[in-house]
Amino acid sequence: MAKKECPSCGVAIDKKYHACPLCGYEFPAQKSIVKYVAIGLVILFTWPLLRLLLSILK
Ligand SMILES: [Zn+2]
Repeated sequence: MAKKECPSCGVAIDKKYHACPLCGYEFPAQKSIVKYVAIGLVILFTWPLLRLLLSILK
């Protein structure tokens, strides 16, 4: 099982944890996932517009 190091207390904990079981430090992993989903949605919505623009230019 993959481990990650807590930046607060330095202990190696299992990657499945969202917070350190020792000091309670919360990992910002879920926030970055939300960011990637938001970027993905933006690409998903702008891609048809970009293709339309390219087809007009051709
Ligand atoms: Zn910790």
